Order: sequence, then C-alpha cells, then structure tokens
Amino acid sequence: MSDLVGKRAVITGGGTGIGLACARRLTEEGIETVLMGRNLDRLEAAASTLANARAIGCDVTDDQSVDRAFEACGPVDILVNNAGIAAASAFTRTSMDDWRRIQAVNVEGLVRCTQAVLGPMLKAHYGRIINIASIAGLRGGAYVAPYVASKHAVVGLTKSLSLEFAQTSLTVNAVCPGFVETQIVEDAIANIMAKTGRTRDQALAELAKENPQGRLIQPDEVAETVAWLCSPRSGSISGQAITISGGAI
Ligand code: NAP
Repeated sequence: MSDLVGKRAVITGGGTGIGLACARRLTEEGIETVLMGRNLDRLEAAASTLANARAIGCDVTDDQSVDRAFEACGPVDILVNNAGIAAASAFTRTSMDDWRRIQAVNVEGLVRCTQAVLGPMLKAHYGRIINIASIAGLRGGAYVAPYVASKHAVVGLTKSLSLEFAQTSLTVNAVCPGFVETQIVEDAIANIMAKTGRTRDQALAELAKENPQGRLIQPDEVAETVAWLCSPRSGSISGQAITISGGAI
C-alpha cells in the first residue's frame, strides 16, 4: 500500500492540463486531492472523475480568496503550486500591466498559497511543496520575458525555501517541464500561426524541436515526477529544479 494514503494534496489549477494529471496520479496513491482554480464548474467536473477529490474556487491573485479556500480545505500535507499563465510579446510592446498580470499569478499566487499551508505543515511535521516551474525558469527566451522572469523567480523561491525549512520535515522542489501538450501550448501554437502564417503542423514542429526527443511532453510525465517528490521516501530531495524536457537542459 502507498505510504501516501490519507494525505491531503491541494493542486492549484487542478482542473486542467498538468494540474489535472497530477490530481489523477496522486489519487492513485490514495491521496485526497483538492482542486483549486477560478472556474468552479470545470473544477467540479474534473473532481467528479476522481476517487477522492473536492473542488474549491480560488483566485490565487486574491488574498481573501486564497484565505477562504485554504480555510475551507483544512490542513494540507502536499501543495502543488501549478496555477500559471503565459503570454508572448516583444519586450518593446510589453506593458507594465502585462508584466504584473503574469507575476501576480505565477509568483505572487505561489507565495500566497505557500504561506497558507506552511503553519499547518510545520505543526504536522510533514510537508511537500512542489512548484511547477518550467525550463523557462532555467534559461532565457525571446518574446517571453515576463514568463521567463516569473519562472526564474519560482526556481529562486524554491531554492531559498528549501534552505529555510531544511531543519524541518518539509521539502520544497520545482519541476521544470519543456513544452507540454496542454492549453498553454495550444495557445502558443495559435499565436505562432497568427503571427507567422505557419500551418498548425509547422507551428507544432517548431515547439517540438525544442525537445531533443522531438516531441511534446505529456502531462502524465510531469505528474509522475510530482508523485515521486510527494513520497516520504523522497525526504532528502529538496531545493531541486528537475527538468522534464527530453534533455533540453
Ligand atoms: P493550463 O491547462 O492552462 O493550466 C493553467 C491552470 O492555471 C488552469 O487550470 C487555470 O485554472 C489556473 N489558473 C490560472 N490563473 C489562475 C488564478 N488566478 N487563480 C487560480 N488558478 C489559476 O496549462 P498547463 O500547461 O497545465 O499549466 C500548468 C502549469 O505548468 C503553469 O504554471 C505553466 O506555467 C506550467 N508549465 C506549462 C508548460 C506547457 O508547455 N504547457 C511548460 C512548463 C511549465 P482557472 O482558469 O480555473 O483559474
């Protein structure tokens, strides 16, 4: 039997893509999953497909919404900070509002949710915080500066918190996927097609060639690493930024 049975995991952005794949995989371990996000209908539909899952509405950019959601949830053993947004534009055409919108979700949202779980995790002497960063958190990229900066911040936070909590039973890690087949990549394909006149297949090939294996990563592949990091047996793994990218970095 899994040593994670009976633990509770919150997955932000758990109704779609990588978040939903994580929820599915953690459910297989006997973990109760709590899916958080803004679109409650979509979260409830996703939760209804899982064995032991709840949906709670939460906008990670809003202090009160996060407070309410974590209060409704109860003590959390595992937090998967997955909610995130991406956008592409030339830096010369990037407004401060564009910049703030991305940092508000990808960085400040993650900080808010992490602060909401730390107290109970420290009291319970068990905690796993897993941040869904990106290979964009480890290298630069043209036309995506706000996203790249936000994911570098996630990796920096991961490393700092791992040191700050090293003497406790908490671990803090990041996973850094390459392009994963989800809505974010669908949007990127549409953007490439609109801006360059390429066909869908050409746009897809452009993204797939970023991966030395020549393909998109599947959400389940990210979820597998997340599940491994949740285990009590991964207690010595902390402060890591693990790439899931076919060797891209
Ligand atoms: P996705 O399906 O678009 O998932 C993004 C999720 O974030 C949605 O479920 C969305 O739910 C949630 N979200 C967005 N803003 C939110 C807010 N203000 N409050 C709460 N939840 C919010 O795309 P995905 O690819 O699975 O992305 C998940 C994570 O993986 C992101 O952090 C992304 O940066 C990262 N990532 C993706 C790729 C990729 O190629 N796909 C690669 C590397 C890293 P609601 O709309 O219901 O709020």
